[in-house]
Amino acid sequence: MKQNFAVIGLGRFGTSICRVLATEQQEVLAIDINEDRVNDLADVATEAIVADAQDEETLRSLEIGKFDHVIVAIGKNIQANILVTLIVKELGVPDITTKAENDTHARVLARIGADQVVHPERDMGARVAHHLLSPNILNYLAINDDVTMAEVKITSSAFVGKSLIELNFHQRFGLTVIAIQHGDNVIVSPAGSDVVQLNDEISVVGPTQAVEELNDRMN
Ligand code: ADP
Repeated sequence: MKQNFAVIGLGRFGTSICRVLATEQQEVLAIDINEDRVNDLADVATEAIVADAQDEETLRSLEIGKFDHVIVAIGKNIQANILVTLIVKELGVPDITTKAENDTHARVLARIGADQVVHPERDMGARVAHHLLSPNILNYLAINDDVTMAEVKITSSAFVGKSLIELNFHQRFGLTVIAIQHGDNVIVSPAGSDVVQLNDEISVVGPTQAVEELNDRMN
Protein backbone atom coordinates (compact mmCIF):
# COMPACT_ATOMS: atom_id res chain seq x y z
CA MET A 1 0.00 0.00 0.00
CA LYS A 2 1.33 3.42 -0.95
CA GLN A 3 1.45 5.93 1.90
CA ASN A 4 2.57 9.52 2.33
CA PHE A 5 5.61 10.28 4.45
CA ALA A 6 7.23 13.58 5.34
CA VAL A 7 10.76 13.41 6.73
CA ILE A 8 11.89 16.58 8.51
CA GLY A 9 15.66 16.85 9.06
CA LEU A 10 17.98 15.18 6.58
CA GLY A 11 20.98 14.21 8.70
CA ARG A 12 22.23 10.62 8.54
CA PHE A 13 19.11 9.27 10.26
CA GLY A 14 16.52 11.20 8.22
CA THR A 15 18.39 10.56 4.95
CA SER A 16 18.52 6.84 5.62
CA ILE A 17 14.75 6.79 6.29
CA CYS A 18 14.07 8.69 3.05
CA ARG A 19 16.20 6.31 1.00
CA VAL A 20 14.50 3.17 2.30
CA LEU A 21 11.00 4.62 1.90
CA ALA A 22 11.79 5.72 -1.66
CA THR A 23 13.21 2.28 -2.49
CA GLU A 24 9.93 0.85 -1.24
CA GLN A 25 8.09 3.12 -3.71
CA GLN A 26 6.47 5.29 -1.03
CA GLU A 27 5.63 8.99 -1.47
CA VAL A 28 8.28 10.93 0.44
CA LEU A 29 8.49 14.66 1.09
CA ALA A 30 11.99 15.51 2.39
CA ILE A 31 12.48 18.79 4.28
CA ASP A 32 15.62 20.44 5.64
CA ILE A 33 16.72 23.97 6.43
CA ASN A 34 20.06 23.23 4.75
CA GLU A 35 20.03 23.44 0.96
CA ASP A 36 22.93 21.00 0.41
CA ARG A 37 21.15 18.29 2.38
CA VAL A 38 17.99 18.85 0.34
CA ASN A 39 19.91 18.73 -2.95
CA ASP A 40 21.44 15.39 -1.95
CA LEU A 41 17.94 13.91 -1.79
CA ALA A 42 16.41 15.68 -4.78
CA ASP A 43 16.66 12.57 -6.97
CA VAL A 44 15.57 10.19 -4.22
CA ALA A 45 12.50 11.75 -2.59
CA THR A 46 9.22 12.45 -4.38
CA GLU A 47 9.76 16.09 -3.43
CA ALA A 48 12.64 17.74 -1.54
CA ILE A 49 12.16 21.20 -0.04
CA VAL A 50 14.35 23.74 1.76
CA ALA A 51 12.34 25.06 4.71
CA ASP A 52 12.57 25.92 8.38
CA ALA A 53 10.17 23.41 9.92
CA GLN A 54 9.89 25.53 13.05
CA ASP A 55 7.80 27.92 10.99
CA GLU A 56 4.21 26.78 11.46
CA GLU A 57 2.96 28.66 8.40
CA THR A 58 5.44 26.79 6.18
CA LEU A 59 4.28 23.42 7.48
CA ARG A 60 0.67 24.49 7.04
CA SER A 61 1.28 25.54 3.44
CA LEU A 62 2.91 22.14 2.77
CA GLU A 63 -0.31 20.57 4.11
CA ILE A 64 1.68 18.48 6.58
CA GLY A 65 -1.55 17.56 8.38
CA LYS A 66 -2.57 15.45 5.38
CA PHE A 67 0.44 13.12 5.57
CA ASP A 68 -0.02 9.59 6.95
CA HIS A 69 3.32 9.66 8.76
CA VAL A 70 5.74 12.38 9.73
CA ILE A 71 9.27 11.58 10.90
CA VAL A 72 10.95 14.36 12.90
CA ALA A 73 14.62 13.55 12.41
CA ILE A 74 16.09 16.83 13.63
CA GLY A 75 18.79 15.67 16.03
CA LYS A 76 21.08 17.94 17.96
CA ASN A 77 18.76 20.95 18.13
CA ILE A 78 16.44 19.55 20.80
CA GLN A 79 14.36 22.71 21.00
CA ALA A 80 13.64 22.65 17.25
CA ASN A 81 12.89 18.92 17.43
CA ILE A 82 10.32 19.43 20.22
CA LEU A 83 8.72 22.47 18.60
CA VAL A 84 8.37 20.75 15.21
CA THR A 85 6.88 17.65 16.85
CA LEU A 86 4.36 19.86 18.64
CA ILE A 87 3.40 21.71 15.45
CA VAL A 88 2.92 18.54 13.38
CA LYS A 89 0.82 17.09 16.20
CA GLU A 90 -1.37 20.18 16.28
CA LEU A 91 -1.72 20.07 12.50
CA GLY A 92 -3.37 16.66 12.92
CA VAL A 93 -0.75 14.18 11.66
CA PRO A 94 -2.03 10.74 12.71
CA ASP A 95 1.36 9.06 13.15
CA ILE A 96 4.51 10.86 14.30
CA THR A 97 7.93 9.31 14.81
CA THR A 98 10.53 11.49 16.51
CA LYS A 99 14.19 10.98 17.22
CA ALA A 100 15.21 11.61 20.84
CA GLU A 101 18.67 12.61 21.99
CA ASN A 102 18.28 11.49 25.61
CA ASP A 103 15.76 10.05 28.07
CA THR A 104 14.41 13.39 29.31
CA HIS A 105 13.89 14.52 25.74
CA ALA A 106 12.09 11.23 25.03
CA ARG A 107 9.70 11.85 27.94
CA VAL A 108 8.83 15.31 26.65
CA LEU A 109 8.18 13.90 23.17
CA ALA A 110 5.88 11.20 24.52
CA ARG A 111 3.97 13.82 26.54
CA ILE A 112 3.37 16.07 23.55
CA GLY A 113 2.03 13.18 21.52
CA ALA A 114 4.81 11.59 19.47
CA ASP A 115 3.53 8.11 18.60
CA GLN A 116 6.98 6.54 18.31
CA VAL A 117 10.05 7.92 20.03
CA VAL A 118 13.28 6.38 18.78
CA HIS A 119 16.82 6.54 20.17
CA PRO A 120 18.93 5.26 17.25
CA GLU A 121 22.34 5.71 18.88
CA ARG A 122 21.29 4.23 22.23
CA ASP A 123 19.51 1.27 20.61
CA MET A 124 22.33 0.55 18.18
CA GLY A 125 24.83 0.78 21.05
CA ALA A 126 22.79 -1.77 23.02
CA ARG A 127 22.66 -4.10 20.01
CA VAL A 128 26.39 -3.90 19.44
CA ALA A 129 27.06 -4.56 23.15
CA HIS A 130 24.75 -7.60 23.13
CA HIS A 131 26.48 -8.92 20.04
CA LEU A 132 29.92 -8.45 21.59
CA LEU A 133 28.86 -10.33 24.71
CA SER A 134 26.91 -12.99 22.84
CA PRO A 135 28.27 -13.44 19.31
CA ASN A 136 25.71 -16.19 18.64
CA ILE A 137 22.88 -13.69 19.04
CA LEU A 138 22.68 -12.13 15.61
CA ASN A 139 19.65 -9.94 16.07
CA TYR A 140 18.07 -8.78 19.25
CA LEU A 141 14.79 -6.99 19.85
CA ALA A 142 13.66 -6.20 23.41
CA ILE A 143 9.86 -6.45 23.27
CA ASN A 144 9.68 -5.16 26.84
CA ASP A 145 11.92 -5.33 29.92
CA ASP A 146 11.39 -9.09 30.27
CA VAL A 147 10.62 -10.45 26.80
CA THR A 148 13.01 -10.63 23.89
CA MET A 149 12.96 -11.77 20.31
CA ALA A 150 16.34 -12.94 19.08
CA GLU A 151 18.05 -14.70 16.24
CA VAL A 152 20.45 -17.32 17.57
CA LYS A 153 23.06 -19.15 15.52
CA ILE A 154 23.22 -22.89 16.11
CA THR A 155 26.84 -23.80 16.77
CA SER A 156 26.53 -26.53 19.40
CA SER A 157 26.56 -30.17 18.25
CA ALA A 158 23.99 -30.92 20.99
CA PHE A 159 21.37 -29.19 18.80
CA VAL A 160 22.50 -30.26 15.33
CA GLY A 161 20.44 -32.78 13.36
CA LYS A 162 17.57 -32.72 15.85
CA SER A 163 13.94 -31.84 15.23
CA LEU A 164 12.11 -29.12 17.16
CA ILE A 165 10.12 -31.85 18.94
CA GLU A 166 13.35 -33.48 20.10
CA LEU A 167 14.89 -30.15 21.08
CA ASN A 168 11.74 -29.15 22.96
CA PHE A 169 12.67 -25.45 23.26
CA HIS A 170 9.38 -24.66 24.91
CA GLN A 171 9.73 -27.07 27.83
CA ARG A 172 13.49 -26.69 28.25
CA PHE A 173 13.86 -22.94 27.86
CA GLY A 174 10.38 -21.42 27.72
CA LEU A 175 11.12 -20.23 24.17
CA THR A 176 8.97 -20.37 21.06
CA VAL A 177 10.76 -20.91 17.75
CA ILE A 178 9.17 -18.67 15.12
CA ALA A 179 11.55 -19.26 12.21
CA ILE A 180 14.53 -21.33 11.09
CA GLN A 181 16.91 -19.88 8.55
CA HIS A 182 19.06 -22.38 6.68
CA GLY A 183 21.26 -20.51 4.18
CA ASP A 184 18.87 -18.52 1.99
CA ASN A 185 15.93 -20.70 2.92
CA VAL A 186 13.65 -19.49 5.73
CA ILE A 187 11.01 -21.69 7.34
CA VAL A 188 8.49 -19.43 9.06
CA SER A 189 6.40 -20.99 11.81
CA PRO A 190 8.33 -24.28 11.63
CA ALA A 191 6.72 -27.65 12.32
CA GLY A 192 7.82 -29.93 15.16
CA SER A 193 9.38 -32.25 12.59
CA ASP A 194 11.66 -29.54 11.14
CA VAL A 195 15.31 -30.25 11.84
CA VAL A 196 17.99 -27.79 12.94
CA GLN A 197 21.37 -27.90 11.19
CA LEU A 198 24.81 -26.51 12.02
CA ASN A 199 24.95 -22.71 11.50
CA ASP A 200 21.18 -22.41 11.06
CA GLU A 201 19.80 -19.21 12.54
CA ILE A 202 16.72 -19.76 14.65
CA SER A 203 14.40 -16.89 15.64
CA VAL A 204 13.01 -17.32 19.12
CA VAL A 205 10.77 -15.30 21.38
CA GLY A 206 10.46 -15.61 25.15
CA PRO A 207 11.92 -14.45 28.48
CA THR A 208 15.18 -12.52 28.02
CA GLN A 209 16.88 -14.79 30.54
CA ALA A 210 15.88 -17.85 28.50
CA VAL A 211 17.40 -16.34 25.35
CA GLU A 212 20.64 -15.82 27.28
CA GLU A 213 20.49 -19.40 28.56
CA LEU A 214 20.08 -20.71 25.01
CA ASN A 215 23.01 -18.58 23.89
CA ASP A 216 25.17 -20.00 26.72
CA ARG A 217 24.44 -23.50 25.45
CA MET A 218 25.99 -22.59 22.09
CA ASN A 219 29.41 -21.91 23.62
P1 ADP B 1 21.94 13.12 12.41
O1 ADP B 1 22.60 12.74 13.69
O2 ADP B 1 20.83 12.19 11.99
O3 ADP B 1 22.93 13.38 11.27
P2 ADP B 1 21.65 15.97 12.77
O4 ADP B 1 21.17 16.59 14.02
O5 ADP B 1 23.09 16.12 12.43
O6 ADP B 1 21.19 14.47 12.77
O7 ADP B 1 20.83 16.49 11.51
C1 ADP B 1 19.58 16.97 11.60
C2 ADP B 1 19.17 17.71 10.32
O8 ADP B 1 18.05 18.51 10.67
C3 ADP B 1 20.23 18.62 9.74
O9 ADP B 1 20.38 18.36 8.34
C4 ADP B 1 19.66 20.01 9.96
O10 ADP B 1 19.96 20.92 8.91
C5 ADP B 1 18.17 19.75 10.03
N1 ADP B 1 17.44 20.77 10.77
C6 ADP B 1 17.76 21.34 11.95
N2 ADP B 1 16.85 22.27 12.30
C7 ADP B 1 15.91 22.29 11.31
C8 ADP B 1 14.71 23.03 11.09
N3 ADP B 1 14.28 23.96 11.96
N4 ADP B 1 13.99 22.78 9.97
C9 ADP B 1 14.40 21.85 9.08
N5 ADP B 1 15.52 21.11 9.23
C10 ADP B 1 16.27 21.34 10.33
